[in-house]
Amino acid sequence: MLIKRDFYIDGKWVPPLKACDFDVINPATEKPVAVISMGTPGDIDRAVAAAKKAFETYSRTSLEERLALLEKLLAIYERRYDEMARTITLELGAPITMSTQQQADVGIGHLKGFIEALKNLSTREKLPNGDIVVREPIGVCGLITPWNWPINQIALKVVPALATGSTCVLKPSEFTPLNAMLYAEMIDEAGFPRGTFNLVNGDGSTVGAALSRHKDVDMMSFTGSTRAGIAVSKDAADTVKRVTLELGGKSPNIVFDDADLEDRVASSVLECFNNSGQSCDAPTRMLVQRPVYDKVVKIVEEAGSRARVGNPEEEGDHIGPLVSHIQFDRVQKLIEAGIEDGARVLVGGPGKPEGFETGYFVRPTVFADVRNDMRIAREEVFGPVLALIPFDTEEEAIAIANDTPYGLAAYVQTGDTERAERVALRLKAGMVHINGGPHRYGSPFGGYKQSGNGREGGKFGLEDFLEVKTVHRP
Ligand code: NAD
Repeated sequence: MLIKRDFYIDGKWVPPLKACDFDVINPATEKPVAVISMGTPGDIDRAVAAAKKAFETYSRTSLEERLALLEKLLAIYERRYDEMARTITLELGAPITMSTQQQADVGIGHLKGFIEALKNLSTREKLPNGDIVVREPIGVCGLITPWNWPINQIALKVVPALATGSTCVLKPSEFTPLNAMLYAEMIDEAGFPRGTFNLVNGDGSTVGAALSRHKDVDMMSFTGSTRAGIAVSKDAADTVKRVTLELGGKSPNIVFDDADLEDRVASSVLECFNNSGQSCDAPTRMLVQRPVYDKVVKIVEEAGSRARVGNPEEEGDHIGPLVSHIQFDRVQKLIEAGIEDGARVLVGGPGKPEGFETGYFVRPTVFADVRNDMRIAREEVFGPVLALIPFDTEEEAIAIANDTPYGLAAYVQTGDTERAERVALRLKAGMVHINGGPHRYGSPFGGYKQSGNGREGGKFGLEDFLEVKTVHRP
């Protein structure tokens, strides 16, 4: 059992002001693997004060100095890479192969993407009217992250804050705090000045809210559920902070009758189930053109039935458990809702897979004949659950795809490149993937509508952390 009760404040590991233990659970065994502390508003006060003091000098460091620190962080991360992958497997339950190839890898990919963007960042420009515009670090940043791609979201917030000369206080998810604490050790070793990065563990309603409300925090960058994103925005409103949000999704995947079905349909199922379906941009609503509907149902059924759950400690491409019993219960309820609403269970269903009674494992599940007004088509399930919805025309597909409160990602499968572009431009989503085109490091990540309002990664991610100042000369 790991003892991880301290917080990282002002360049040191310090005990919390008040003792309040919280167990970190291994989702595959349901057993505690570490103990952390749940912080209080007083801990946030200490961390914000350190960040505010550090900002006075760190905000005046040169781009070259900050680049050198980021390069050091990259080298340390590469050295401790396997430790990061193992930590994520332990607390999230992501299978070790997936943790190594994907979860830990994003920490490097985003860091490199930001380093490249920082090298080319222009912070001073002369307008045609003679005025000068400078871009300055915004100040003390409050960063709140979820558990599902934990180091992904941490890197997408901590790196641009530090890269642009701001200072920060991170509150990671209380369910996956260990990777964040490992990242804090790396930042410490890289030599970032004390107070530039601080970490306080705790829950959302106490520590998260204290950070969002704090008068000395200039910006909140939040990733998590739309529910909590709204709470952060309201809490931040009284002090008129900038708030950027990366929230949930219910992303459509439009399969036209001219798509390469064998290739694209089976891989879409795997994309939906990746990370046990716990990805905000997962293609969870597969809209299928009617002439190929029966054929697609068959391919999906075969691909879905091949998906296996397995022990996260073992190498392989199996699916791990969900992160917590809360998520397990939530996913079970939504699978039940799909059945009650009259959708046809093609693969899986409620309950645990055979042989996996311990751990938060669920059966990878596919529903056919779903209508877009059913709960499984409207709500973010956040488990390996796919919904198949038939459509007739391109117009109807676009209408169904956009008929959701979310707007994070969208996917289009077609052999017609003109149609792909035409449809992509009409989808209300922050990112459109055509025929399996992947998200690349350095490109903006974020959503429309209730999926959020900021963009993370690369140049766009740096810009979110900058203030604009106009200098008028006589
Ligand atoms: P969550 O909203 O419950 O928690 C996310 C973080 O917010 C945690 O650190 C939590 O402690 C904190 N929090 C909760 N309530 C808060 C409050 N009132 N004030 C301040 N902080 C609060 O979400 P989760 O269950 O950890 O993560 C899953 C959600 O995150 C899903 O909805 C998913 O779609 C979303 N997500 C979005 C993206 C994206 O980039 N769009 C990426 C990953 C996850």
